[in-house]
Amino acid sequence: MTAANARNGDRTGDPQQSVQEQRARVHSDLAEAREELARLERKLEHRPDFGLGEGSPEIYQWEMNLALRKRVLAKIASLEDALKSLEEGLYGICERCGKPIEHERLEILPETTLCVSCAQKVRY
Ligand SMILES: [Zn+2]
Repeated sequence: MTAANARNGDRTGDPQQSVQEQRARVHSDLAEAREELARLERKLEHRPDFGLGEGSPEIYQWEMNLALRKRVLAKIASLEDALKSLEEGLYGICERCGKPIEHERLEILPETTLCVSCAQKVRY
């Protein structure tokens, strides 16, 4: 109970305050992701002529944008989930083990629903 306490330092504060901060962050990430989605969708409207053949740079670019769009859509979905958890007061709780998710991890990945050790178990 010593090393862990030493790290708390200036991090102590009103927990309600940090929920507000997290919500603001998730909101801004969500706005950003939606902008990116709109940008990608504008690009995807111009579907290249697939008669140009597989190796054509236009087709390659288009398919890249398509893959990016899929990723952005997944990100938006998990940010929306994070927002819902915030509303329900469940934000920052690991959905696999039920323990609080590390603060450092939430700062880097605000949409995560897994703690560090569960995320590692899922990935490997
Ligand atoms: Zn966990």
